Amino acid sequence: MTNDVKRVYQHGTLALLIPGLFTGTMTVAELLTHGNFGIGTAHGLAGELVLLDGHAYTVNGDGQVTELAPDGTVPFATVHWQDSSLPTQAVHQRTKAELETQILAQAPLKNLFFAVKMTGTFKVMHTRAVQTQQEPYPNLTVATRVQPEFEQTDVTGTLIGYYAPALYQGAAVAGYHVHFLNDTHDFGGHILDYTVVDAQMTLQPFETFEQHFPSDNEAFLKSDFDLQQVNADIEEAEH
Ligand SMILES: [Zn+2]
Repeated sequence: MTNDVKRVYQHGTLALLIPGLFTGTMTVAELLTHGNFGIGTAHGLAGELVLLDGHAYTVNGDGQVTELAPDGTVPFATVHWQDSSLPTQAVHQRTKAELETQILAQAPLKNLFFAVKMTGTFKVMHTRAVQTQQEPYPNLTVATRVQPEFEQTDVTGTLIGYYAPALYQGAAVAGYHVHFLNDTHDFGGHILDYTVVDAQMTLQPFETFEQHFPSDNEAFLKSDFDLQQVNADIEEAEH
């Protein structure tokens, strides 16, 4: 079977993190059968997940980078098969805001899910990372009230993440949601801001968004999700 590069696969939803459903419900080994690049978080909200070329790394609240073992688990992750036949675009001297606006101005992508992958040198990379939570888990707003932030200058590495159409807020973060890992694997996290010096960027639009649910997780099955609360909490915790 060939890997479907037109499909993005998601296990769990961003919304299930909001009431504190941080228990891992899929192994890393299984997640990696659905894609080789992606983002998410690990069991217990143990850091920002960065999947690069079939390896799953987390950047934890102390800024430490660890590769997850195949039997590690995730409550929420989005992955895809990177299409190596896609053209790359050179990006020079752009801020995050400039580049994100430029991407949507150059192609009609606003109503699609697409992956952004960018490798190169960044003048500034500003990230944050969630801190590992202990049971009984607090809700996401409480868990992310203190979020350590990290910044490096003149750093080389890979940005990976997704754009989701506005309609999918709750399933995902509407708009861009991108993570970073440097080449020496000792700095990264959920991206707050950056300035590119020189990088190569690939945009990969998807035809299919496959949403997989933790259908044997009782806490998930019994949770009540309020759309307005989900919206407000995503705005507070993820931006
Ligand atoms: Zn993130």
